[in-house]
Amino acid sequence: MIEETVNTAAPVEEKKLNFLEEIIEEDLRSGKYESILTRFPPEPNGYLHLGHAKSLCINFGLAMKYGGKTNLRYDDTNPVKEDTEYVDAIKEDIKWLGFDWAEEKYASDYFDQLYEWAEDMIKRGLAYVDDQNQEEMRANRGTVETPGTDSPYRNRSVEENLQLFRDMKAGKYADGEKVLRAKIDMAHPNMMFRDPILYRIKHASHHRTGDKWCIYPMYDYTHGQCDSIEHITHSICTLEFDVHRPLYDWFIQTLGIFPSHQYEFARLNLTYTLMSKRKLLELVQKGLVSGWDDPRMPTLCGVRRRGYTADALKMFCDKIGVSKRDQMMDLQLLEWCVRQDLNARSNRYMVVSDDPIKLTITNWEPGKVEWFDCPLNPADPEGAKRNVPFTGELLIDRSDFMEDAPKKFFRLKPDGEVRLKYTYIIKCNEVVKDENGKVVELKCTYDPTTGRDGEYRAVKGTIHWVSTEYMKEIEVRNYDKLFVKEDMNDIPEDKDYKDYLNPESLKVVKGYAEPALVEDNTGIAVQFERVGYFHRDPDSTPELPVYNKTTALKDSFKF
Ligand code: ATP
Ligand code: MG
Repeated sequence: MIEETVNTAAPVEEKKLNFLEEIIEEDLRSGKYESILTRFPPEPNGYLHLGHAKSLCINFGLAMKYGGKTNLRYDDTNPVKEDTEYVDAIKEDIKWLGFDWAEEKYASDYFDQLYEWAEDMIKRGLAYVDDQNQEEMRANRGTVETPGTDSPYRNRSVEENLQLFRDMKAGKYADGEKVLRAKIDMAHPNMMFRDPILYRIKHASHHRTGDKWCIYPMYDYTHGQCDSIEHITHSICTLEFDVHRPLYDWFIQTLGIFPSHQYEFARLNLTYTLMSKRKLLELVQKGLVSGWDDPRMPTLCGVRRRGYTADALKMFCDKIGVSKRDQMMDLQLLEWCVRQDLNARSNRYMVVSDDPIKLTITNWEPGKVEWFDCPLNPADPEGAKRNVPFTGELLIDRSDFMEDAPKKFFRLKPDGEVRLKYTYIIKCNEVVKDENGKVVELKCTYDPTTGRDGEYRAVKGTIHWVSTEYMKEIEVRNYDKLFVKEDMNDIPEDKDYKDYLNPESLKVVKGYAEPALVEDNTGIAVQFERVGYFHRDPDSTPELPVYNKTTALKDSFKF
């Protein structure tokens, strides 16, 4: 039979500091900073996913460990894709993970300041308005091997640039007609320094500033300055931003403002999982999932609906650690953490799956009901109980009976004995079949001297069951991986990531539950004994409670 393994925690070992902790400890020791301030900078253009959980755990985790603080700052410089729906959802997800930010800020809070700095740069001859279109700019940028070509508009006078930039702001030009660029070096070996764009024209309403602006600052011109304004000490982001770091430093030095510093860590990649907001949005928009919170989605609202706990995600982030090298993490490790957490805290109930077999206790007094009080969690035998009714007609899982059973089959078989979990030992005396030969009923007798689990005498097998008189019908949504491909970052040229959607990722079946299940209001996923963890879905109605499969009870993964 399937038995729950209670994992004993690994011995506590002195953990080595990760590279960010080393940097911070040195900065505090040397007196560079008195306290640290980190930030989490989501763009409000989608829902947070598991990758963001890693970033959140790092940013908030470091601040908590070293007595510092973390700001939440929305990186909202692209009005076309951003929305308050996302702003609200992001806050909800961060709170759910159990993190509190010091200040809630928006890059758009600093638009005035950023604009002022841009005028300063123009006045210092460090920025100019360029009329080249996108293609011309791209062509003149050069390549890694060859230097770029100066724009014909590069040597405009300060006065002309200032006037043009003010006209851009005033709305005199159409999208794409002009941009403001930093005047650095079109032959710079780092392409980022080849006169990066500071502002582009976008006639679009912004979720916060409305129609005040029709020019918007670019990421590179915004991020470091926002960090600096807030006095962020350690600006932690993913590895792909390391090429931006010199420019980040250049703006801060050029403007002579608070020296925030950027550090990069490896982003989270998970097997069978896609973590790009753009693609997740496409799945939602095309109806390939039921929404951002579809339990198969890697979004925080999705895994929450699936039954993953915040503690399990934090345990996972702690285990994967912080590294400077990209790597693929095993989805099974995440599931292991979920199981580990739920094993300790979830309530247990018996639920029989679709296509059960009826089991009749022929020596049971007709109409008699016996209630068994059973622990909600075996780890806490003295703790809260649930009452389970036992009657003369029961259901069991079809997989718990076998007619021509091999020797090692310890569940029910003709003339065999088995313990009905928490209650009596029964013996199967007669197998009833329909005209197609399908087993429809097992006639059994119970042994009244056997009492409860473990009392009086033992048998090798224990199976779960429900009373047909008291059971509740439920809907069970069995989820599997959304994608069948292990490395979803590695899609061949001639394929699309949607080609790898798993057609079997959702199977809806019926289930039959002991009555106490539907009374469970803990809000935490429960264990269907011997089967797995399941979480009640908001689609539930009083007539039909719905349960999402969180994860199986165990698999072969060894941690
Ligand atoms: P996506 O590529 O999914 O659209 P993003 O980087 O555009 O993600 P942001 O909202 O800009 O999303 O990210 C906010 C923060 O979360 C950034 O600091 C970003 O580096 C970090 N982050 C995003 N994805 C991951 C990931 N897979 N692992 C770790 N951190 C991540
Ligand atoms: Mg981004």
